[in-house]
Amino acid sequence: MARIVPRTEMTSIEKAYLPEIAKGLWLTLGHFLKGFFQPETIPVLNYPEVQPEIPRNYRAKHRLMKRPDGEPRCVACFMCSTACPANCISIEATESKDGRIEKMPAKFEIDLLVCVFCGLCAEACPVDAIRMDTRKISLAANTREKFRVGMKDLMDWNPSDYPETDTQSQKAPGGTLNAQARKEWGV
Ligand code: SF4
Ligand code: SF4
Repeated sequence: MARIVPRTEMTSIEKAYLPEIAKGLWLTLGHFLKGFFQPETIPVLNYPEVQPEIPRNYRAKHRLMKRPDGEPRCVACFMCSTACPANCISIEATESKDGRIEKMPAKFEIDLLVCVFCGLCAEACPVDAIRMDTRKISLAANTREKFRVGMKDLMDWNPSDYPETDTQSQKAPGGTLNAQARKEWGV
């Protein structure tokens, strides 16, 4: 439904423009002088030595979730690649080794140079197999090919980098909870 935003009438001083320009310049000068004489008040991050705090829900580089046996959780349903507006996910399906599951990806590739980090792939996935919570935002490589990340790269994540409350990550092979259970079972 359209919403009409009421416009306030400009006063005669505002209509003259020059006083408003002077006000703007005065404000800019104030910031300049503050930064010049009190540089410690300017919020500065010594990047890249000091990295910014990235929230967990920031849409960063993707990862593929794993099953307890280490296989990808993905069932190769193609919903993420269908939802992707940039058409940068390519999947090839194969028969799953697990008799209860029909398919798994033989190839799962994302072209990070084409991706617009919209998050639609993660939203479309019916089995929570793809997430964008890695907090990896500085992606650099010296060739275009290296930005085409495959299954090996997408599944290479450490469960201990994720919160204890994230049981799916924690239970992944090598995860804290798995390691704990193996220790308790003596295996
Ligand atoms: S984040 Fe958006 S553009 Fe990137 S792979 Fe997912 S759906 Fe495609
Ligand atoms: S990541 Fe999810 S949506 Fe994409 S193919 Fe696999 S199961 Fe389907």
